[in-house]
Amino acid sequence: MSAVPGARLFAPIRVVSPATGRLLAEVPDEGEGGVERALAAARAAAPAWGRLGLAGRAAALRRWRDAVLDDREVVETLVAESGKPRHEAEGVEILYLCEVIRFSARAARRVLKEETRNPFLFVTKKTRLVRHPLGVVGVIGPWNFPILNNSADCVAPLMAGNAVVLKPSEVTPLTSLRLAELWRKAGNPDGVFQVVTGRGETGAALVDRADGVMFTGSVATGRKVAARAGERFIPCVTELGGKSPFVVLAGADLDRAAEAAVFSGFIHSGQACIRTERIYVEESVADAFETRLVSRVNALRQRAPDARGDSAHDLGAVTFPRQVAVVERHLADALAKGARVLTGGNRRDDLSGSFFRPTVIAGATHEMEVMREETFGPLVPVMRVRDAEEALRLANESHLGLNATVFGPPEAAFDFARRLGSGQVIVNDVLVNYLIVEAPLGGWKASGLGVRHGVEGMRQWTRTQAITVRRPLLAPIERLVARYLAFPYNPKVLALLRRVMRLLYRSSLSAKLRSR
Ligand code: NDP
Repeated sequence: MSAVPGARLFAPIRVVSPATGRLLAEVPDEGEGGVERALAAARAAAPAWGRLGLAGRAAALRRWRDAVLDDREVVETLVAESGKPRHEAEGVEILYLCEVIRFSARAARRVLKEETRNPFLFVTKKTRLVRHPLGVVGVIGPWNFPILNNSADCVAPLMAGNAVVLKPSEVTPLTSLRLAELWRKAGNPDGVFQVVTGRGETGAALVDRADGVMFTGSVATGRKVAARAGERFIPCVTELGGKSPFVVLAGADLDRAAEAAVFSGFIHSGQACIRTERIYVEESVADAFETRLVSRVNALRQRAPDARGDSAHDLGAVTFPRQVAVVERHLADALAKGARVLTGGNRRDDLSGSFFRPTVIAGATHEMEVMREETFGPLVPVMRVRDAEEALRLANESHLGLNATVFGPPEAAFDFARRLGSGQVIVNDVLVNYLIVEAPLGGWKASGLGVRHGVEGMRQWTRTQAITVRRPLLAPIERLVARYLAFPYNPKVLALLRRVMRLLYRSSLSAKLRSR
């Protein structure tokens, strides 16, 4: 129950397996009251966490990682609430958490260290950059990757010395709760990493109170979160939808391209932000590519993950059942406008949960919703294009710009990649760029602002303080300069200043000086 006077109470959240329809658990919607309690505990815990220093925080994150690696329950919880194959639960989500912790723990020394900047003009000074944590960072996660876009996004802010409050999606909160338990089991301090369960209003309450926000989800909600963060002047990173193009140029290795298109189109039943959402293939290789694509899709094994821990299938359930309705809407619109189904095209009535057959359609055009709006489900449209220029124009014709893939001769593909309006591009491969945690990853256009990963993805969870001090040996010169620059102003000094400025900055003179 909420401890905050006047705070609203909400019905508990029923967490249901998308693969079987079975009720897994009920969790509270903690609302504003839960957020306030978590924030108070986080603020109390943050100073000691900061004082642990980089080595102490890295050790705590590694202990947490070890506890996760030794735990079977976290895998089973993730599989049960998301409906994804165990291979993806472990081989994508847990692998990613391990990799983010490895990188953050090592890179922090370099990324967060204090540094000195030497001024050109005021040679008597030096400026020291000190990086302070923001305080408490709120992480708001989606339902498609209950570790990767939830707890794993807490690692960089934690390493930077912040306490973190995570609000997972109401659809898949159980994995995050297990990760919070494992944090405690690893002997790590209370209050530093907390999970608050709830619906959208709980997320909004977190944005209202945190000192920084990391949000992953839809464009519509991301816009609200960024607007509120803007009002509060707090840093906010948003990773929103994608409509990633996959371009097949003439000269591409078609076997590899088809294999990669299937993997990136149907990973987690198409519920991934950087997945392939639309394919453009040059006319000259289109028949050969489509044949290869369809035969590989037909070989995919789709079913509910079973209780025995068997992972011999490729596609599980659609985690968020409403997503099936989006797939059906996009498919119906495309068929009405002239597309044709190459394989798939309907729900799996033989399975009890939320399943849609992996579907490929050909003859797609930009008149169709499926080429413009995020589908986020197991439907991949293929459009034929005259040449690379047409592919480029159409690939860039989107309000989103998160990720893109190009298959083709390496040099041509790289040149093509540079001209794409997308924060990430991967050449002759798919998806693995998400696991290259050394490089910043963020969207352009309505796909969001800011990045995760890399130096940039960690430093943003600090505020930089620039402290300027005098170089002790140069104090006499400084007193002289101060006499000329400060009050009382003197016309003779101004005349001298003019001459110095011309000497330093006037192009022709400074060039002459440089050439000597
Ligand atoms: P949302 O953007 O609505 O939800 C993402 C997270 O934000 C959830 O934890 C949600 O809570 C929370 N939230 C909702 N409203 C607010 C608010 N006003 N302030 C703060 N937090 C809030 O995404 P959906 O889950 O509804 O998915 C809708 C669409 O978004 C999908 O169809 C897909 O196209 C896209 N999507 C993109 C993702 C990506 O990886 N880029 C991931 C997931 C979805 P709660 O779930 O409890 O409502």
